[in-house]
Amino acid sequence: MNYYSLNKKSSNVTFKEALIKGLAPDKGLYFPEKINKLSESFIANINNYSNEEIAYECIHQFIGSEIPESDLRKIITDVLSFDFPLTKLNDQISFLELFHGPTMAFKDVGARFMARCLAYFLKNQDEKKSVTVLVATSGDTGGAVASGFYKVKGIKVVILYPKGKVSNVQEKQLTTLGENITALEVDGTFDDCQAMVKKAFLDEDLSNNINLTSANSINIARWLPQMFYFFFSYRDFKLSHSDKIAFSVPSGNFGNICAGMMAKEMGLPINKFIASNNINDVVNRYLKTKIYDAKPSIQTISNAMDVGDPSNFVRIINIYKNDFNLIKNNLHTCSFTDDETVEGIKELINKFNYIPDPHGAVGFLGVKDFIESNPNYKCIILETAHPAKFSEVINLYTDNLVVPDQISSVINKKKKSVEIDGFLAFKNFLLDS
Ligand SMILES: *Cc1c(COP(=O)(O)O)cnc(C)c1O
Repeated sequence: MNYYSLNKKSSNVTFKEALIKGLAPDKGLYFPEKINKLSESFIANINNYSNEEIAYECIHQFIGSEIPESDLRKIITDVLSFDFPLTKLNDQISFLELFHGPTMAFKDVGARFMARCLAYFLKNQDEKKSVTVLVATSGDTGGAVASGFYKVKGIKVVILYPKGKVSNVQEKQLTTLGENITALEVDGTFDDCQAMVKKAFLDEDLSNNINLTSANSINIARWLPQMFYFFFSYRDFKLSHSDKIAFSVPSGNFGNICAGMMAKEMGLPINKFIASNNINDVVNRYLKTKIYDAKPSIQTISNAMDVGDPSNFVRIINIYKNDFNLIKNNLHTCSFTDDETVEGIKELINKFNYIPDPHGAVGFLGVKDFIESNPNYKCIILETAHPAKFSEVINLYTDNLVVPDQISSVINKKKKSVEIDGFLAFKNFLLDS
């Protein structure tokens, strides 16, 4: 499969090239040249398929012959080594729990898939051609990438994170692995970290000496596997023929929800997407006013969605052919303050006996808003992180939060990081390592 740049000023590339480049030279996001529909009988008989079989059916067209079937099936089996359970709140609403992976956020699947594909392409190359993955993180991305790429041969991972601005659990997930993973602690904000990564990609000394790539959600190999969730939960929800279904997706960079739209393009009968936002809600305002007015991000308790200008929205515009009404027909948007999010957390705990994380609570509020005017829909909320990752917030409202092994095992490990005070130090670190 070939990919084109949405800015249309760079040449088309293979899956491998799109994966290694991340972003096109014209700074556009890559998009597959073609989306083939899956067969109707596959969708009708989806109950008969395992997670691994569904994932293969979904993704193989986007890779083509670049990874042979047996290798791709092995990668998928390895990536999907944990569960994606649905938990029912009532007959109408269920949570799809995407937090059972190693770092307990949905980003694990994309990060693991990207790491294994990259390792597949690098395995026959010599050591000099090793790839360095750079990633700036405000919290969850860094941990998922660190875990996904841990001990993968031929790949070094360098994570930049803002000192003192990630949660304790998140910091431990970034800084305790060692081996091929290095965490750089930056005295600044997330925006400063991201600016340093961007500058590194433009630096000639660096590009002449090191193969650099990035691992955020613009990378097709991190983005596309997220479509699996919609197929798995569609199978598990056991809808009847007349049911209409909506997915509520707590959204920041709009990668996850856009992967759901790809699933729909491939034939999965989804009737509506609900983009549930915190107060960083540029897309919500756009659909209400037709004016796209990006703003700097504002910090909230659902911090993985603190995004002022979501990078994947251009992919959504592309899927719906730049047709405002078509976007509006497919997408319900809404936005909630931290106070409202706390009310959602309390309602879920006290009325439904379900402990959400703050992002899942925003997803729940999105469903409540949607079903007011669409009472006949069945709704699936993507619960994108485990509540124990946000225990500082959740423990205020319950005494019953259990800390799972994935989190308790990192909490007491020793943090190892390198402090970086600016771009020059960062550059020298990359050239020396
Ligand atoms: C990254 C993240 C999101 C936002 O996902 P996007 O694909 O960027 O929209 C939501 N919740 C959690 C917990 C996340 O880590």
